[in-house]
Amino acid sequence: MSNITFTMIKPDAVANGHTGKILDHMIQNGFKIKAMKYIWLTEEQAGKFYAVHAERPFYKDLVSFMTSGPIVAASLEKANAVGDFRKLIGATNPKDAETGTIRNLYAESIEANAVHGSDSDENAQIESSFFFSQLERF
Ligand code: UDP
Ligand code: MG
Repeated sequence: MSNITFTMIKPDAVANGHTGKILDHMIQNGFKIKAMKYIWLTEEQAGKFYAVHAERPFYKDLVSFMTSGPIVAASLEKANAVGDFRKLIGATNPKDAETGTIRNLYAESIEANAVHGSDSDENAQIESSFFFSQLERF
């Protein structure tokens, strides 16, 4: 079990002014920010980040959505970070996301669903190193 997960606050949530509330939601639920960046992804970066979904029908739209505006990328620390964070954000489709989860509160649609959360310890490491080279100092 690892204590790191990786998140992005997606372009919809940033554009809708939810960045501060979402970060606070994470912090109040015990997640510590290890690294954080406010950036506008290039098509190449978004394409690479979501390469596991390259064959899925929604891939092209997803890359275009993820490059439609700036995002916040962050690595977060907590015991059982990956599992606890997936619970905190709720289901991929906000229609299925439990009341009080971040996607329930802030997502617009199954695509524009406010936040990303890693799905495994291995991917948390891969995704963190996609954006950050130094996590160990904090
Ligand atoms: N997505 C989409 N349509 C779908 C499924 C997913 O646009 O039918 C987008 C959505 O933004 C989602 C991302 O693709 O967060 C990655 O999909 P995944 O199945 O990994 O969902 P997640 O792990 O983010 O809940
Ligand atoms: Mg996923």
